[in-house]
Amino acid sequence: MRIPFVAGNWKMNLSVAEAVKFLQDIKGKLPDPKITETCIAASPLFLESMIKENGDSPLIISAENCFYEDEGAYTGETSPKALSEMGVTHVIIGHSERRKYFNETDDIINKKVHAAFRNHLTPIICCDETMSRRESADRISWVVSQVTNALKSVTPTQAEKVIVAYEPSWAIGSGKTASSDEAEEGCYLIRQTISDLYGDDVSDQVRVLYGGSVNDDNADDILAQTDIDGVLAGGASLKPDSFLKLANFLQ
Ligand code: PEP
Repeated sequence: MRIPFVAGNWKMNLSVAEAVKFLQDIKGKLPDPKITETCIAASPLFLESMIKENGDSPLIISAENCFYEDEGAYTGETSPKALSEMGVTHVIIGHSERRKYFNETDDIINKKVHAAFRNHLTPIICCDETMSRRESADRISWVVSQVTNALKSVTPTQAEKVIVAYEPSWAIGSGKTASSDEAEEGCYLIRQTISDLYGDDVSDQVRVLYGGSVNDDNADDILAQTDIDGVLAGGASLKPDSFLKLANFLQ
């Protein structure tokens, strides 16, 4: 049985003080992690204060990105080893904004997935779909190749731990959510790809999320889909109330 996973991605928003206040506001109001796991991904600048404030709350604290080397002469990068040492347990890898603005390729994303595992971080791998790809003939092969390339040389034992998010960039921050059928279709395709790579035993364990303008008005239909195990929300995760509504949908 896959435990639903509701994650927020704050991107480059909020301040350290606002991040801490957010955690104070949601404390004691999150679901039992046996029912739904909850997670916030934040700037590396906030993580230490957030971990301290979080205490023994079930909220998972995630990074939004990391580099693929553990240490060295990589000015400005975020070390996955340092994240792990801080107590961070998850990291988003390959968000469409990283692919678009920072030229992250499938190869870089694959190296980051390995860096995450090497440092005991659970990768939340994002799979993009642009509108032009969606309308083109190679739409399916593009989704399949992003998943396949991200998981290159990942062992079955590691693969069953990954979380994959279908995040069509045409729906991110646009207010234009994929319909529940479109979201299910993308998430099904991701699960099928993992099944083709590793078999059903592994693909049945992998949590597949939908992300793209999710909010408490549309989450109901999305979370009811067979292959959708949760959501990755940007805008709707910035306010404690709306994050709590998403987190508690499946109670
Ligand atoms: C995201 O940043 O991953 C995202 C899905 O953003 P939004 O919910 O704002 O579309």
